[in-house]
Amino acid sequence: MTTTMTPCIITVAITGSVPTKKDNPAVPITVAEQVESTQASFEAGASLAHCHVRNDDGTTSSDPEKFGRLVEGLKKHCPGMIIQLSTGGRSGNGRERGGMLPLRPDMASLSTGSCNFPTRVYENSPELVDWLAAEMIANNVKPEIEAFDLSMIFQAVKMEQDGRIKGPLHVQFVMGVKNAMPVDKETFDYYVKTLKRLAPNATWTGAGIGKGQLMLNRWSLEAGGHCRTGLEDNIRWDESGKLAPSNAALVKRVADLCAEYGRRPATPAEARKLLSLAAA
Ligand code: ZN
Repeated sequence: MTTTMTPCIITVAITGSVPTKKDNPAVPITVAEQVESTQASFEAGASLAHCHVRNDDGTTSSDPEKFGRLVEGLKKHCPGMIIQLSTGGRSGNGRERGGMLPLRPDMASLSTGSCNFPTRVYENSPELVDWLAAEMIANNVKPEIEAFDLSMIFQAVKMEQDGRIKGPLHVQFVMGVKNAMPVDKETFDYYVKTLKRLAPNATWTGAGIGKGQLMLNRWSLEAGGHCRTGLEDNIRWDESGKLAPSNAALVKRVADLCAEYGRRPATPAEARKLLSLAAA
């Protein structure tokens, strides 16, 4: 491993709001399982944890108390790791989705528009987006812009320019959600090019859902971006349908892939610097 290789921030999306233990027994549901799974991922090279919390029956939750216990556990067992809480898992529930922002995590996800999801509308009204963004500024939380289509990138840039988001922007290009933007290389290239043109100081991550996960990992490493993996996005290991053994195994796969593209996993301290976050 040489220091001249460009560091790659590996995000692990450990849980999400959809997959259950029936889909893959490795999906962590309780806070204790989530902390354990994140710690193993951290040791495998992840420097950013994207987190949802669940009720005991597996349904998605937005309980700030539960988020608080998770943050506490992660700070203890994954020192320096960037903690990002999801504001996306309870679409339709309005401001409840931002009820945990006063916990002041390092980051939180923020979608700057609406789109269709596999079975519903992913609803982000202009009023709600502005409210979530204002809460993030008030609590010193850096947003990760979840871009499910091109318009969301333009909207994020506009919000940064008029002060509703504190820059520099960090954008995640999400591809492969059924009924939203599919995994498409020309569109991906255009996202990268457009973000560079509109916000030259922005950083970005590529996230591929389902079968697209590994493909987006490769495209992102090649184009100089950062990578996301984890059971939230994909429960399978390969095309054969075999289940992914764990979040840590998915992280290790990206960490191992880095060298092929002249990259290496970023340390938590490097990741914080790249995203203009305070040191841990
Ligand atoms: Zn999520």
